Amino acid sequence: MKRLIIDPGHGGTDPGATAFGQKEKDWTLKMSLYQYKRFKELGVNVEMTRYEDSTLNPVARISRVKNRADICISNHFNAFNGSARGLEVIHSIHASPRFSQIVADNLVRQTGLPFRRVFSRSLPNKKHDYYFMHRLTGSTQTLIIEYGFIDHPLDNQYFKHDSQFLRAAEAVIESVCIELGVTYLAKQVTTQVPSLQVVQKKTLRNEDKKESDSKRNSYVGKILQSVHKGQLRFYSRPSWKDEDVFGYMTEGQVFPLINKKVRVGKGDQYQVQNRRGEVYYVTAHPEFVLVK
Ligand SMILES: [Zn+2]
Repeated sequence: MKRLIIDPGHGGTDPGATAFGQKEKDWTLKMSLYQYKRFKELGVNVEMTRYEDSTLNPVARISRVKNRADICISNHFNAFNGSARGLEVIHSIHASPRFSQIVADNLVRQTGLPFRRVFSRSLPNKKHDYYFMHRLTGSTQTLIIEYGFIDHPLDNQYFKHDSQFLRAAEAVIESVCIELGVTYLAKQVTTQVPSLQVVQKKTLRNEDKKESDSKRNSYVGKILQSVHKGQLRFYSRPSWKDEDVFGYMTEGQVFPLINKKVRVGKGDQYQVQNRRGEVYYVTAHPEFVLVK
């Protein structure tokens, strides 16, 4: 089965482009996490270079991509001087522009954002790619997608609306699925992404109902912290399987909210959520996690 890696550009101490109070690193992570979840749903073998707002130097980023996938989608938002706008897809000098053009065309069709260009760029010697995501990623075919200009008022406005943001995300998912030979099933993206507060309220209301005649469990609404010395797995669904691992918590790291406890096989997991309202599952074993 063909493999995909999604690379949310920048992160941690590197905000990328910034404008109108927004940071590129947040938009690339939001785009990538959504695409990651959708690709998982669609049965694609997918990984990400980073799963949270962490700093990734070029060497670390490359090591997570090089020869590890057939396709890498490196998500970015452009910035110039406030007057440029539109979509760009950048491919390696060694790759045909065909796939990049397909991705760009579908983005333009689905979003209505202006097309800017599909291109490649070499170092002055003409032998090597200018961008390290192309030059140093081996056999992986990397596309750098610049979804628009964060510092252009119209592009910025477009991506401030979640429904439009997700339309762009879906356009890329569709093109990549076709390239990977995976059936793409469309998702209604007219609904808004729920904010953390909404998810929290809804979840707690459900808990209220379920536990109306029993005492509210003491962990609901609390913080979950990893007290495990190594890397503690967290899952995209209630599961202990390797394939459902979404990421790893380091010692001391927290999820700000526990929603509930669920029975998974012979053990318990907490359903937790992060600040963006995304829901994951972590072991509830007190040897590994602390509720506070
Ligand atoms: Zn960037």
